[in-house]
Amino acid sequence: MTTDPVKNFLEVAVTAPVNKPLTYLAPDDCKKRLKQGMRVLVPLGGRKITGYILGRTDTAPVGQQIKKIYKVLDNEPLFPKEQVDFYKWIANYYHYPIGEVIKTALPAGLTKKSGRRIKITDAGKKHLAEISESAITGTPWFSSLLHKGAISPHAAAGLWRTKERGLLELWEQKGWVAISIELVGGTAKTKNETCCALAENIDNPDSLKVSEQKTIAVLQKITSATKRRFVPRREITLEYRGAGKALKSLAGKNIVIFEEQQVYRDPFGDSFLQSDIPETLTDEQKKALSSILPAIKEGRFAPFLLHGVTGSGKTEVYLQAATFVLEQGRSVLLLVPEIALATQLEAHFLARFGSRVALLHSGLGSGQRFDQWCRIAEGKADVVIGARSAVFAPLKNPGLIIVDEEHDSSYKQDDGFRYHARDLAVLRASRSAAVVILGSATPSVTSYYHASMGKYSLLDMRKRIEERPLPAVEIVNMQSVKTIAGRPPVFSPLLIKNLQDTLERGEQSLVFLNRRGYANFMICRDCGQAAQCAHCQVSLTLHRSENKLLCHYCGFTVSSKTVCANCQSPSLTAIGVGTERLEHELPEILPGARIARLDRDTCRKRSDYIKILRAVHKGEIDILLGTQMITKGHHFPNVTLVGIVLADTGLGLPDFRAGERTFQLISQVAGRAGRGEKSGRVIIQTFQPEHYSIEMARNHNYQGMYAREIELRKALGYPPFSRLANLKIEGTDNDYVRDKAFRLANMAKKFCKGTEPEILGPAPAPLTRLRDNYRWQLLIKGKKLEALHTFLHRLEGEIGGLSKAGKVRIVIDVDPEYMM
Ligand code: ADP
Ligand code: ZN
Ligand code: ZN
Repeated sequence: MTTDPVKNFLEVAVTAPVNKPLTYLAPDDCKKRLKQGMRVLVPLGGRKITGYILGRTDTAPVGQQIKKIYKVLDNEPLFPKEQVDFYKWIANYYHYPIGEVIKTALPAGLTKKSGRRIKITDAGKKHLAEISESAITGTPWFSSLLHKGAISPHAAAGLWRTKERGLLELWEQKGWVAISIELVGGTAKTKNETCCALAENIDNPDSLKVSEQKTIAVLQKITSATKRRFVPRREITLEYRGAGKALKSLAGKNIVIFEEQQVYRDPFGDSFLQSDIPETLTDEQKKALSSILPAIKEGRFAPFLLHGVTGSGKTEVYLQAATFVLEQGRSVLLLVPEIALATQLEAHFLARFGSRVALLHSGLGSGQRFDQWCRIAEGKADVVIGARSAVFAPLKNPGLIIVDEEHDSSYKQDDGFRYHARDLAVLRASRSAAVVILGSATPSVTSYYHASMGKYSLLDMRKRIEERPLPAVEIVNMQSVKTIAGRPPVFSPLLIKNLQDTLERGEQSLVFLNRRGYANFMICRDCGQAAQCAHCQVSLTLHRSENKLLCHYCGFTVSSKTVCANCQSPSLTAIGVGTERLEHELPEILPGARIARLDRDTCRKRSDYIKILRAVHKGEIDILLGTQMITKGHHFPNVTLVGIVLADTGLGLPDFRAGERTFQLISQVAGRAGRGEKSGRVIIQTFQPEHYSIEMARNHNYQGMYAREIELRKALGYPPFSRLANLKIEGTDNDYVRDKAFRLANMAKKFCKGTEPEILGPAPAPLTRLRDNYRWQLLIKGKKLEALHTFLHRLEGEIGGLSKAGKVRIVIDVDPEYMM
């Protein structure tokens, strides 16, 4: 017997809660064209779901019936083979199903699965029209079935989880409805467009009509400007309306050729910055590059922590390192916090590297994101900028990975697959023999610790460009500010005076408050109770312009005219301040000032955000107020004053990183002042002026904060002196959840025999109730990474058992960022 050179079995990661890849048989007719990284549709438990080919083998597991794959979904792989081991490592480390890891990594809209379509039959039309139970006839699904003749797969999926499933199955038996399985989802696909080019040789051009000559001129102009031979017809007709007809006649004369080509939907909109290469680098920039460039040249893994104060010129270091990597024929990945997209950093990269750049972020539609992904996979873009999930971009041979604002907690995904993009960036670099630069003015305590232990090379940039001074910082103790009607005012006299002076000098101010809405509490004047969300243990925030009380966790709203839930009193008062209230009060203090607000309520779209930033750049805004959104990565040369309305908002949180985060946040906002030629000033209002986070931020003393934090972490055995995993146990029945939490804890304690890893809890989570779920947690603290993961793998089996009945959900959060 001859052996087939192509192996028969495929290793497939399925999009289902299965920890290991499964084995399927490759059908003979398409065996040869199947490659690692392609999607296939496979049968699993009576359903058809998407899977990803990870590899081929000669052998199949014994004693198991091996099924054939059902369909191949791609012509080309969606990710390079090198990614496979990366995905496997990640699934193992985060204790998450490998197929789901890959699904998260790939652009949304690619996953197909089977769903039910429910159609009414002729017999059904007769019988169902006579039903009069209002519990059925009043529902949208029933009226859709009766009047449109069918229930969509999406609605059917919802019904299948309710008791209506039994009813529909009964109707099917009676022959009133027909239920069929069909494929749904996976709508993102490539887009083609008609493109035109001039033929190689053109005969007698004089005999052409005026419109034809004009069309040729437009085509030539676009071709030479964009260096593309084929130009979309749309672009030509946009420039010259007569071109449509002329192109057709030119094609008839063999002067123009048409071709259907794949086009990429342009996600960039317009950028608002030029990027000039500075004539000379600062000594610190030179020094940093003199460490980075040789490592790039040698093509080895080298991690750097670039600690550069705000305005020290980190961007130029990134740009020059990137240029050098591209010259070596390798690619570049730049990660930025989600909120910081569309800032100058991105604009600089676009300006320097133009069409080589691909952008991946949540502001893109699924089609656009898919286009960008394909451009990267096909090697057409070799500079990739994106938020968290871009760490999975299918770049071939990355030579440099940059993580800007590496301390930012948005790099950690906080639901589903809870990965940390910064950590994965380092891992990916090490697997690709690439350089990784973690950049920040306020590095995370953990990264700085790694640098101090020699795991990362530390690059220091302590001076601002042109030796501009860091801003002078003043602290206002709000406890000693004169109260108004028994309450401290929103703005202290010192801040008001400075805002006025800045306005008079024609300079700009930023006013920061990390809280949106108008007021963060509605207190009952009669019984003192705060209005709470009906589904979460969270107080509601007043959004005055919409006359609503809103839960910032689940989106629950009630009218602001509601009564107290406790005593039905109608007199509720707003307590506390949010950005909406600042916007409301500022015009009274500073009549005539041009004010803009930047937060999630005013900027729902990326274009809103860009519009406001551009107005600030052009000097059309005097005061920009807002939340975190104003702190990230902006460079406004004319901003000379930064006011922090309340620095304490994060200090009281029950989280061991609260002090570190407060320091980082204040430093980042403060760093927006005085970045141009004029020096800057910062005013911090606080009720806790002695807190070390505030004290150290005032003195721009990163080292002081670090020393303080590292001492605390050491004493308590928190990261970086240990690794954490948080087991979250959630469900709607509190007693049941508590019971399972204790059972899990007992099992965990038995496994670890009282020493390593350490087990803390179970305890109710600080936010005990969220979206109608009661939440408990069990914190696992391990000194040794390997031992911790061995332990978690053992525990996984028990978790499966406990959550089988479906009444609790237990998730493992490895390296948790938020303990709430
Ligand atoms: P950071 O990211 O460290 O906060 P930036 O990279 O935004 O700082 O740099 C601050 C400003 O200094 C930018 O406007 C940048 O164009 C400018 N800049 C950077 N390097 C130089 C240089 N070598 N000479 C002059 N200006 C520079
Ligand atoms: Zn009350
Ligand atoms: Zn809520």
